[in-house]
Amino acid sequence: MNNLPIFKYQPNAYDIGIFKKVPAQKCSICNKETEYIYMGPFYSIDEVDNVCPWCIYEGTATKQHNGVLQAAVEYKDKLLSVTYDDEFNQYMYFMGYDEVEQFKDDKLEELLFHTPGYISWQEPQWLSHCDEFCAFIGYVNKSEISAMKIDLRDEELLTLKGNYGIDALDQVSDDSGIYLFQCLKCGQHRVHIDHT
Ligand SMILES: [Zn+2]
Ligand SMILES: [Zn+2]
Repeated sequence: MNNLPIFKYQPNAYDIGIFKKVPAQKCSICNKETEYIYMGPFYSIDEVDNVCPWCIYEGTATKQHNGVLQAAVEYKDKLLSVTYDDEFNQYMYFMGYDEVEQFKDDKLEELLFHTPGYISWQEPQWLSHCDEFCAFIGYVNKSEISAMKIDLRDEELLTLKGNYGIDALDQVSDDSGIYLFQCLKCGQHRVHIDHT
Protein backbone atom coordinates (compact mmCIF):
# COMPACT_ATOMS: atom_id res chain seq x y z
CA MET A 1 0.00 0.00 0.00
CA ASN A 2 2.87 2.38 -0.49
CA ASN A 3 2.69 5.23 -2.92
CA LEU A 4 -1.04 5.72 -2.61
CA PRO A 5 -2.58 9.12 -1.94
CA ILE A 6 -4.11 9.76 1.47
CA PHE A 7 -7.44 11.53 1.52
CA LYS A 8 -8.06 14.03 4.29
CA TYR A 9 -11.83 13.56 4.28
CA GLN A 10 -11.81 9.87 3.34
CA PRO A 11 -9.01 8.39 5.51
CA ASN A 12 -10.17 4.76 5.29
CA ALA A 13 -10.84 4.69 1.55
CA TYR A 14 -8.65 1.64 0.93
CA ASP A 15 -10.13 -0.38 3.78
CA ILE A 16 -13.84 0.08 3.21
CA GLY A 17 -14.23 -0.77 -0.46
CA ILE A 18 -14.09 2.73 -1.93
CA PHE A 19 -11.06 1.54 -3.84
CA LYS A 20 -10.93 -2.11 -4.79
CA LYS A 21 -7.69 -4.05 -5.05
CA VAL A 22 -7.40 -5.54 -8.51
CA PRO A 23 -4.75 -7.30 -10.59
CA ALA A 24 -2.53 -4.58 -12.04
CA GLN A 25 -4.30 -2.78 -14.85
CA LYS A 26 -4.15 0.53 -16.65
CA CYS A 27 -6.03 3.52 -15.31
CA SER A 28 -8.48 4.85 -17.91
CA ILE A 29 -7.38 8.43 -17.24
CA CYS A 30 -3.59 8.50 -16.74
CA ASN A 31 -2.86 5.16 -18.39
CA LYS A 32 -0.51 4.18 -15.58
CA GLU A 33 -0.63 0.78 -13.94
CA THR A 34 -2.71 0.61 -10.80
CA GLU A 35 -3.72 -2.10 -8.37
CA TYR A 36 -6.56 -0.04 -6.96
CA ILE A 37 -9.55 1.24 -8.84
CA TYR A 38 -12.23 3.61 -7.69
CA MET A 39 -15.57 2.03 -6.80
CA GLY A 40 -17.35 5.03 -5.29
CA PRO A 41 -19.89 7.35 -6.89
CA PHE A 42 -18.90 9.48 -9.85
CA TYR A 43 -21.53 11.90 -11.09
CA SER A 44 -21.04 12.71 -14.75
CA ILE A 45 -22.63 12.19 -18.11
CA ASP A 46 -19.86 9.81 -19.17
CA GLU A 47 -19.58 6.32 -17.79
CA VAL A 48 -16.27 6.44 -15.95
CA ASP A 49 -14.51 3.19 -15.03
CA ASN A 50 -11.08 1.96 -13.99
CA VAL A 51 -9.82 5.12 -12.36
CA CYS A 52 -6.76 4.99 -10.12
CA PRO A 53 -6.53 6.71 -6.71
CA TRP A 54 -4.15 9.38 -8.02
CA CYS A 55 -6.56 10.54 -10.70
CA ILE A 56 -9.22 10.99 -8.02
CA TYR A 57 -6.76 12.74 -5.69
CA GLU A 58 -5.35 15.07 -8.31
CA GLY A 59 -8.75 15.85 -9.75
CA THR A 60 -7.90 14.70 -13.25
CA ALA A 61 -10.84 12.28 -13.30
CA THR A 62 -13.44 14.93 -12.49
CA LYS A 63 -11.74 17.43 -14.75
CA GLN A 64 -11.59 15.12 -17.75
CA HIS A 65 -15.20 13.97 -17.45
CA ASN A 66 -16.78 17.13 -16.01
CA GLY A 67 -17.74 15.09 -13.02
CA VAL A 68 -18.31 15.57 -9.34
CA LEU A 69 -17.68 13.04 -6.58
CA GLN A 70 -20.28 14.04 -4.00
CA ALA A 71 -24.05 14.09 -4.31
CA ALA A 72 -24.82 16.53 -1.52
CA VAL A 73 -22.71 18.16 1.15
CA GLU A 74 -23.56 20.15 4.26
CA TYR A 75 -22.24 23.60 3.61
CA LYS A 76 -22.97 26.86 5.38
CA ASP A 77 -25.86 25.14 7.19
CA LYS A 78 -27.50 24.09 3.96
CA LEU A 79 -27.31 21.16 1.60
CA LEU A 80 -25.16 21.95 -1.40
CA SER A 81 -25.17 19.97 -4.62
CA VAL A 82 -23.29 20.51 -7.83
CA THR A 83 -24.05 19.30 -11.34
CA TYR A 84 -22.41 19.93 -14.64
CA ASP A 85 -24.44 21.78 -17.25
CA ASP A 86 -23.21 20.61 -20.63
CA GLU A 87 -25.23 23.20 -22.48
CA PHE A 88 -23.31 26.04 -20.85
CA ASN A 89 -20.21 23.99 -20.14
CA GLN A 90 -20.03 24.86 -16.49
CA TYR A 91 -20.80 23.51 -13.07
CA MET A 92 -24.02 24.65 -11.47
CA TYR A 93 -24.20 25.01 -7.69
CA PHE A 94 -27.41 24.58 -5.74
CA MET A 95 -28.17 25.29 -2.10
CA GLY A 96 -31.29 23.26 -1.53
CA TYR A 97 -33.22 23.95 -4.73
CA ASP A 98 -31.82 27.42 -5.33
CA GLU A 99 -29.08 27.96 -7.82
CA VAL A 100 -26.25 29.98 -6.31
CA GLU A 101 -22.97 31.47 -7.45
CA GLN A 102 -20.06 29.08 -7.58
CA PHE A 103 -18.11 29.17 -4.29
CA LYS A 104 -14.41 29.85 -4.26
CA ASP A 105 -13.43 27.57 -1.43
CA ASP A 106 -10.43 25.24 -1.46
CA LYS A 107 -11.94 22.82 1.04
CA LEU A 108 -15.16 22.55 -0.89
CA GLU A 109 -13.17 22.08 -4.07
CA GLU A 110 -11.16 19.30 -2.42
CA LEU A 111 -14.29 17.50 -1.24
CA LEU A 112 -16.26 17.78 -4.46
CA PHE A 113 -13.56 17.09 -7.01
CA HIS A 114 -10.65 15.40 -5.23
CA THR A 115 -12.20 13.22 -2.53
CA PRO A 116 -13.71 9.77 -3.12
CA GLY A 117 -17.41 9.64 -2.34
CA TYR A 118 -19.01 6.90 -0.30
CA ILE A 119 -21.59 4.37 -1.38
CA SER A 120 -25.09 4.49 0.04
CA TRP A 121 -28.52 3.17 -0.85
CA GLN A 122 -29.96 6.61 -1.21
CA GLU A 123 -28.28 9.89 -2.00
CA PRO A 124 -25.07 10.19 0.02
CA GLN A 125 -24.74 13.32 2.12
CA TRP A 126 -21.41 14.56 3.38
CA LEU A 127 -21.64 15.94 6.90
CA SER A 128 -19.86 18.93 8.40
CA HIS A 129 -18.96 20.15 11.87
CA CYS A 130 -17.01 23.08 13.32
CA ASP A 131 -17.22 24.84 9.97
CA GLU A 132 -15.24 22.03 8.31
CA PHE A 133 -16.15 18.89 6.42
CA CYS A 134 -16.05 15.74 8.52
CA ALA A 135 -13.99 12.68 7.71
CA PHE A 136 -16.00 9.68 6.56
CA ILE A 137 -15.13 6.84 8.94
CA GLY A 138 -17.14 4.04 7.41
CA TYR A 139 -20.30 1.99 7.15
CA VAL A 140 -21.64 0.61 10.38
CA ASN A 141 -24.72 -1.30 11.36
CA LYS A 142 -26.72 -0.85 14.48
CA SER A 143 -24.90 -3.43 16.58
CA GLU A 144 -21.49 -2.16 15.48
CA ILE A 145 -22.36 1.38 16.37
CA SER A 146 -23.68 0.40 19.77
CA ALA A 147 -20.50 -1.61 20.40
CA MET A 148 -18.48 1.50 19.63
CA LYS A 149 -20.22 3.25 22.53
CA ILE A 150 -20.15 6.53 20.73
CA ASP A 151 -21.19 9.41 22.90
CA LEU A 152 -23.16 11.81 20.80
CA ARG A 153 -23.41 15.34 22.07
CA ASP A 154 -26.78 16.91 22.66
CA GLU A 155 -26.62 18.92 19.45
CA GLU A 156 -26.15 15.72 17.43
CA LEU A 157 -28.99 14.01 19.29
CA LEU A 158 -31.19 16.96 18.40
CA THR A 159 -30.18 16.55 14.77
CA LEU A 160 -31.06 12.85 14.96
CA LYS A 161 -34.43 13.76 16.37
CA GLY A 162 -35.01 16.42 13.74
CA ASN A 163 -33.80 14.41 10.76
CA TYR A 164 -34.82 10.89 11.66
CA GLY A 165 -37.32 11.17 14.52
CA ILE A 166 -35.24 9.09 16.91
CA ASP A 167 -33.82 9.94 20.34
CA ALA A 168 -30.78 7.67 20.33
CA LEU A 169 -28.73 5.51 18.00
CA ASP A 170 -30.18 2.31 19.44
CA GLN A 171 -33.51 3.32 17.95
CA VAL A 172 -32.19 3.07 14.42
CA SER A 173 -33.92 0.22 12.62
CA ASP A 174 -31.85 -2.92 12.06
CA ASP A 175 -31.71 -2.63 8.30
CA SER A 176 -30.94 1.07 8.04
CA GLY A 177 -27.60 2.05 6.56
CA ILE A 178 -25.59 4.07 9.05
CA TYR A 179 -22.76 6.25 7.73
CA LEU A 180 -20.32 7.35 10.37
CA PHE A 181 -18.41 10.62 10.21
CA GLN A 182 -16.04 12.35 12.59
CA CYS A 183 -15.24 16.01 12.96
CA LEU A 184 -11.64 16.73 12.03
CA LYS A 185 -11.47 19.58 14.51
CA CYS A 186 -13.25 18.50 17.69
CA GLY A 187 -13.57 14.74 17.20
CA GLN A 188 -17.35 14.64 17.53
CA HIS A 189 -18.97 11.76 15.68
CA ARG A 190 -21.85 12.42 13.38
CA VAL A 191 -24.10 9.99 11.54
CA HIS A 192 -26.09 9.99 8.36
CA ILE A 193 -28.81 7.37 8.17
CA ASP A 194 -30.59 5.83 5.21
CA HIS A 195 -34.18 5.08 5.88
CA THR A 196 -35.49 1.88 4.41
ZN1 LIG B 1 -4.95 7.37 -13.09
ZN1 LIG C 1 -16.45 19.64 15.44
